[in-house]
Amino acid sequence: MIYDNHNRPITYLRLAVTDRCNLRCFYCMPEEGIKYLPKHQVLTYEEMERLVRVLAQLGVHKVRITGGEPFVRSGLMGFMQRLVAIEGLTDLSMTTNGVLTAPHVAELASLGVRSVNLSLDTLDRERFRKITRRDELPAVLKTLDALLAAGIQTKINAVVMEGQNIEDLIPLADLTRTLPVDMRFIEEMPFNGEGSHYPVLHWTHRRIVEEMQSRFPTLQKLPDPPFSTSATYQIPGHQGTIGIIAAFSRTFCGTCNRIRLTAQGTLKTCLYDNGVLDVRAMLRAGASDEELTAAFLRAFAHRPANGFEAEKQRSVVTESMATIGG
Ligand code: SAM
Ligand code: SF4
Repeated sequence: MIYDNHNRPITYLRLAVTDRCNLRCFYCMPEEGIKYLPKHQVLTYEEMERLVRVLAQLGVHKVRITGGEPFVRSGLMGFMQRLVAIEGLTDLSMTTNGVLTAPHVAELASLGVRSVNLSLDTLDRERFRKITRRDELPAVLKTLDALLAAGIQTKINAVVMEGQNIEDLIPLADLTRTLPVDMRFIEEMPFNGEGSHYPVLHWTHRRIVEEMQSRFPTLQKLPDPPFSTSATYQIPGHQGTIGIIAAFSRTFCGTCNRIRLTAQGTLKTCLYDNGVLDVRAMLRAGASDEELTAAFLRAFAHRPANGFEAEKQRSVVTESMATIGG
């Protein structure tokens, strides 16, 4: 196991397989979309597989496939099949918007994918269309049903946005009454692809908890799993749990075990950094596994202590979450 310069183990990779997406969530990208990377600038599946192999040897045992929307890249299931064969990789999961996912759920289950994060900010079709700029709520709900039917542990991610989905917070939390889902509410972050506005955070993790308590006064705090970014709660008698992710307030950096590879092969050792290593350049210049390993270790030895420190070392945030992977 590799520890960083703040004694945090590095065990979890978030791998963005594309920056392209079939939705246009306004908190992630502008209506016209972002300027997508030309295909040759995106890592090939072979390159990504090699990087996962190298990182698995360093102790990374969990990989989450993300994007952009993973399912807009063709050949995804074949790639995931190759990943599950990598020695040391014990936990393969994914984050998806659920639009194209339902037909693949049975195969995900057969590959051993135990957990999927599904993004869903509202249960109202018109608000869904307004937030994502696409009319795809029915397809996402179909995916939710398919995931539950397949017995895949499902976390539903909702970004909490003033003026957009506040009326949805209680109905979404109430899904946990009958469904064994982890309903997670996420503070909005500044990665909207525009760099033009840094959101004022109206809905902090504390305010979200208060909103839950106002409707569910018996809400209980549960112990959080190790390295969790979310504070876990449950309403007694409900099947599922509620998680609150202080993504903007960054209260969880002290136990952060995760690194990120963007679709163009940039290593990020903090969500808020500007990218610390151009891994694609190394790969395409013919770096050996030993050279890649040494470069990863150098990066892990210089991780910022937290997201505030990382953010201070860069200029204004302009990228979209679709290039980072969440
Ligand atoms: N397209 C997939 C999806 O939406 O699930 C995977 C990629 S998406 C970038 C990963 C996660 O980041 C989603 O749950 C999304 O809600 C979240 N996200 C995107 N932009 C965000 C922002 N500005 N603040 C907070 N979360 C954000
Ligand atoms: Fe696409 Fe996910 Fe970004 Fe929405 S949050 S635009 S689904 S990448």
